[in-house]
Amino acid sequence: MTTPSFRDLGVPKKLNESLHRQGLRTPFPIQVQSLPHALAGRDLCGRAPTGSGKTLAFSIPVVERSESARPHHPRALVLVPTRELAGQVREAILPLAQARGRWVATFYGGTSIRRDVDRLRRGVDIAVATPGRLADLVQRGDIHLDEVQVVVVDEADRMADMGFLPEVRRLLDRTPDTRQTLLFSATLDGDVDVLVRAYQRDPVRVEVAVPTEEAGRVNHLFWATQRHERRAVAAEILRHSSGPAIVFTRTKHGADRLAKQLASDGVTTAAIHGNRSQRQREAALARFARGEVRALIATDVAARGIHVDGVELVVHFDLPGSEKDYVHRSGRTGRAGRDGVVVSLVCEDQHRDLHAMQEALSMTAGTHDVAFAHLRADMVPDPTARRSPADAAAPRTRARPPGARTATTGPARRSTNPRQRHRAGGARRRTG
Ligand code: ADP
Ligand code: MG
Repeated sequence: MTTPSFRDLGVPKKLNESLHRQGLRTPFPIQVQSLPHALAGRDLCGRAPTGSGKTLAFSIPVVERSESARPHHPRALVLVPTRELAGQVREAILPLAQARGRWVATFYGGTSIRRDVDRLRRGVDIAVATPGRLADLVQRGDIHLDEVQVVVVDEADRMADMGFLPEVRRLLDRTPDTRQTLLFSATLDGDVDVLVRAYQRDPVRVEVAVPTEEAGRVNHLFWATQRHERRAVAAEILRHSSGPAIVFTRTKHGADRLAKQLASDGVTTAAIHGNRSQRQREAALARFARGEVRALIATDVAARGIHVDGVELVVHFDLPGSEKDYVHRSGRTGRAGRDGVVVSLVCEDQHRDLHAMQEALSMTAGTHDVAFAHLRADMVPDPTARRSPADAAAPRTRARPPGARTATTGPARRSTNPRQRHRAGGARRRTG
């Protein structure tokens, strides 16, 4: 079976040409499943993991189905949880919008509201916004949502986590009932499901449950470290990897401190977190994306929605607060078909929490000693190879069985491979 082309899926000529110019030739599965329905005007509820290409799946119909706007009356609305994501969605929409002669602008906090108002006065066809800033603009009477034809709620689960859903509902209530609503999320339970029921009409449900070829193989490593040696281990990990890396800390202060420490260890870093100004955050991201710094030190603010091409390594310097955060942070690597490595540094007192998290994620990795040789994503131990007694004590660090490419792509899937379960059961676990 061959994959249909964008054209086969109903993407009109001008947009198709723009995609081609960007080197986008073969649609990803979420795009194959979404585009015909979304372009036909259906409501759509899409569940797919990070890096699967959701942005393009909604950007094409948004551009195609929105008309030219009067001042202060946008025709399409894309709601996103974070400023960073707003910027990235705009980047994806912009070339398509230009091909169709549409104006796109972002609206988010921390920037001049006067500039927002200027833009709106000139007419914005497609508004990409965080709920907070959009609500401010609505309140001030600078933006009216009564002519909105298409609404996208991107990363709805993240919006729910961040407490944005009441605001999202108030905003949706101001748009016409006849609008088309596209909703994307990594999970579709709880509050997100409530949103779907309340605001979508007979939505087409599209699911890409398991990332396929597009998501790379990700090697999940869990290393037992003493708290006082974490910094040295982190520096050493970064020295062993060659590509861009994101290191997550729990607190903003911790991110700043670690960025300085790693810099004095000879690793170029930039920190990104909620205490930094919008300008500082953008500058840090840009330096990282250009390859001027090796490691981005980030809090969870940066965990979702940011796509920097080719992130090879994610380090959980502090363990994430929940399994959801683990998935979202780790999802910064292994995107768009690239392989990646995720290392969690597990301190003395965290083994119990880690174990609970691994159980919740159906991961069977256990905890292992620090082993820098395992940092390469393509280090796939061959389970059929005979192991020497010395080998037998060595940690088997892959969380997924080799060969089964579709099964190697994420933690949120229960393994059905008995060998893997057995191996994990036999893995050495450090408790001290
Ligand atoms: P998601 O929103 O699902 O997490 P993104 O939309 O950010 O994922 O897409 C991840 C990456 O894949 C981006 O770099 C994007 O440019 C790339 N991408 C998306 N669709 C395609 C495609 N059809 N062909 C090649 N690359 C694509
Ligand atoms: Mg996305």
